Amino acid sequence: MATAPSLYDTFNRAPLRFARGEGVWLFTETGDKYLDFAAGIAVNSLGHAHPHLVEALKAQASRLWHLSNLYEVPGQETLGQRLVDATFADKVFFTNSGAEAIECAIKTARRYFYVKGQPERYRIITMEGAFHGRTLATIAAGGQAKYLEGFGPKVEGFDQVPFGDLAAVEAAITPETAAILIEPVQGEGGIRPIESEVLRSLRALCDEKGLLLILDEVQCGIGRTGKLFAHEWAGIEPDIMAIAKGIGGGFPMGACLATAEAAEGMTAGTHGTTFGGNPLAMAVGNAVLDVVLADGFLDHVLEMGKLFTQGLASLKDRFPDLIADVRGSGLMIGVKCAKSNVAVVEAFRTEHVLAVPAGDNVVRLLPPLTVSAEEVRDGLGRMEKALEKLQGGTARN
Ligand SMILES: *Cc1c(COP(=O)(O)O)cnc(C)c1O
Repeated sequence: MATAPSLYDTFNRAPLRFARGEGVWLFTETGDKYLDFAAGIAVNSLGHAHPHLVEALKAQASRLWHLSNLYEVPGQETLGQRLVDATFADKVFFTNSGAEAIECAIKTARRYFYVKGQPERYRIITMEGAFHGRTLATIAAGGQAKYLEGFGPKVEGFDQVPFGDLAAVEAAITPETAAILIEPVQGEGGIRPIESEVLRSLRALCDEKGLLLILDEVQCGIGRTGKLFAHEWAGIEPDIMAIAKGIGGGFPMGACLATAEAAEGMTAGTHGTTFGGNPLAMAVGNAVLDVVLADGFLDHVLEMGKLFTQGLASLKDRFPDLIADVRGSGLMIGVKCAKSNVAVVEAFRTEHVLAVPAGDNVVRLLPPLTVSAEEVRDGLGRMEKALEKLQGGTARN
């Protein structure tokens, strides 16, 4: 039910009104507190009101908010160089969102072949269950009927294959194929990791056929899986990568990273943005990296991930009628439900734990990467209580 008639009815909102946040906790207007294991869908990577981020934003806000990309923006140079130093990339383009970062990735791949004199190579192979954003091109890339319906002709140039199916990828390659685009761990699709072996084979296939490998790390990047980027687990490097969500820690921003070769076609005037790379966003992005790149931070993510997953595994043993599987990596965790995932999200919410439903009947748990062992245990206790009630409720029905 729409509670605000003035707003588009595009969101089914839970009847919760939060007034402030602190760490992993959110507080309602009436003072109730919730454990935020949704983190704005993997956006609040350092929790709410992290002092270092607040300080960085305040300091920048008192100096300069916006500068056109007609001028040099020092924060972009710093953050760009830090991302280059930490990854495969040589070049970075800053955006305001994940979808824009993917749009930039798609345009970069198409231009690469255009300037090589192969403009006919523009098609991109994607995977079923993918999610790449809500713009016209990114819904075409994601290929999900529910997001395409009613929005006119699907943007041309995307060929979808079954998830993780190497033979199908190979069969889908034609002389018009430019790239393969995948999420190393599907988020919206239900926390489905691509096996490292498959990712390595896709890299080899791209090398063999002269294709570009584009990774969408909008959700799984920036420490979420316990490595700075999820593809590092497979020991491979992409040619182009889109990031967003966690890099802004709650401030809207994204980026498209590329090798110098892949970015060759993106010359002056070919692409642009008004707000992308805004000084406020750059200040916060740099502050997020200060924390995520600090010694021991990713070890903490792995440790908390292990604690969380072990706790969930025992819940699975206790409630086999409700939990079918626990999967994921680091603090990107999926609980595959045996019954309705939406009912489980609602049961968790009743115990003041926030989680997010995903495809494949999964409940996503994406706590801030700063979550403590005590908070993980607190959350597991609340989830156990929620599942007990749910079990009792279904037993009576
Ligand atoms: C959220 C998401 C996007 C889109 O990001 P927006 O900022 O909503 O445009 C793209 N890809 C993945 C994997 C995502 O999780």
